[in-house]
Amino acid sequence: MISATAEISVSALQHNLARVRAFAPHSQVLAVLKANAYGHGMSRTAKHLDNADAFGVARIGEALRLREQGITKSVVLMEGFFEAEEVYDLVEYGFETVVQNQHQLDAIVYSKLRKPIKVWLKIDTGMHRLGIEPEQFEHFYRTLVNSPNVLKPIVVMSHFACADEHDNPFNQQQMQVFDGCMADTTHSAAPPLLSLANSAAVVNYPSSHHNWVRPGIMLYGISPVAEHIGQKYGLQPAMAMKSKLIAVRKIKKDEAVGYGSAWRSHDETFIGVVAIGYGDGYPRHAPNGTPVLVNGRQVPLVGRVSMDMITVDLGKQSHDKIGDEVLLWGAELPIEVVAEKAGTIAYQLICNITRRVNLHYVD
Ligand SMILES: *Cc1c(COP(=O)(O)O)cnc(C)c1O
Repeated sequence: MISATAEISVSALQHNLARVRAFAPHSQVLAVLKANAYGHGMSRTAKHLDNADAFGVARIGEALRLREQGITKSVVLMEGFFEAEEVYDLVEYGFETVVQNQHQLDAIVYSKLRKPIKVWLKIDTGMHRLGIEPEQFEHFYRTLVNSPNVLKPIVVMSHFACADEHDNPFNQQQMQVFDGCMADTTHSAAPPLLSLANSAAVVNYPSSHHNWVRPGIMLYGISPVAEHIGQKYGLQPAMAMKSKLIAVRKIKKDEAVGYGSAWRSHDETFIGVVAIGYGDGYPRHAPNGTPVLVNGRQVPLVGRVSMDMITVDLGKQSHDKIGDEVLLWGAELPIEVVAEKAGTIAYQLICNITRRVNLHYVD
């Protein structure tokens, strides 16, 4: 049966977690599994990363699915819960929650909970997306510390806007705002644990590692810094996106290929048709020349990406046959390169993988 297959390397996932620990040897690791573990399959990735210290997700539905799949490790809702009654699910399923607004604070402190919950208090240090104002910190922190519904210590967190830019002074500025908020808590009876670093900060800003790092993209072997590939940080790509040739045809000079007749041959050549398209998550905007590996040889994508197929120029000398293997991205063809060509980032390519793609786990 021919279909696009994302081969997931368990040893690469493990290796990348070990790389996180090597970068941040004194920190606990919140392995970020949101968006179906960045397309790698959430519950199976969770099982293969069971030596992480906790898991991070973005939606309560993701957290519930981990529990349904038998995952018992701590799960953190990194944006918190969105409806007040969900506070009871936190107790029921043992989820930890971010608190980033007044509604969440009220739901926690004014509910009658049969057990206290673990809370991560999020400060907006400059990204201006989620989080309380630095001026509100003292009030929120004190309210949480004094609530019998909240386990101590609390984790205080923030998120970087530009951690992938190593020399951007805004990173120092965000760290200063964060440290400023913490100054009052260090002598308190219940000093918090701290968390700032996503993958980019894990590799770029050791001083931001604190108690908990929160890597996502680097666990999957992908560079958190756009101009590099994961290998630069000793990471191994966890995914190889593969498919097969389903047709090979000879065309003459100046014949058009695909929708809109958007590409024409300059010479006679062989065109290979590959069973993957935007219906599988291959980026529709990948232009002519986007690299594809056929039988280990790099060939250019030509013509428009369609829903179920792409076409590649195999060249005049091609001996490629139907059924031959095609690699769209993986160890021999960095996803960062394909993403750049397609005018996007690797994060989006892996999140866009659809249910039609088989996920196949290998050692
Ligand atoms: C998604 C997310 C992360 C992980 O980011 P990466 O760039 O993939 O490492 C970390 N922290 C928070 C709050 C997130 O939402």
